[in-house]
Amino acid sequence: MAPTKVQNGLVIGLDYKLKLDDGEVVDESEPGDPLYYLHGADNIIPGLEKALTGMNLNESKTVKVKPEDGYGEYDEEAVEEVERSIFPDDVELEPGLMLTLEDDEGEMMDAIVTEVNGDMVTLDFNHPLAGETLFFEVKIVEIREATAEEREHGHPHVADGHEH
Ligand code: ZN
Repeated sequence: MAPTKVQNGLVIGLDYKLKLDDGEVVDESEPGDPLYYLHGADNIIPGLEKALTGMNLNESKTVKVKPEDGYGEYDEEAVEEVERSIFPDDVELEPGLMLTLEDDEGEMMDAIVTEVNGDMVTLDFNHPLAGETLFFEVKIVEIREATAEEREHGHPHVADGHEH
């Protein structure tokens, strides 16, 4: 019998809408195109995963996720001023530009340009939703067993052409 309750090791299909506390919708799934994730494998933020545990197929609810269970608190230390000259000349640097940078250890890090002031550029390495309390309106639209390969990879394989 197919599973009907959300628990670890199952692939979950989720319709969702993400709002901030001012009501702004910042993300949502398209109708008929749910988000698939492997429950218990850290595919989604911890506060949401915890709240979905035990939900039934076709059940809906609104989940409130505090920053520490979401994208983290906003960290003032994660804002850095760097020299314009570290970027190639042909990069059009302006506030709002998202960049992926490599640090000294070769780790890739996402940043947003928040200010360009003469020869200096301010980069914010916080997640864009850091410090935000998140409100998810969710509906469980699919629950199925994960395949052995999905469990091994720690994420679902859906028919969208992605290779892993
Ligand atoms: Zn995979």
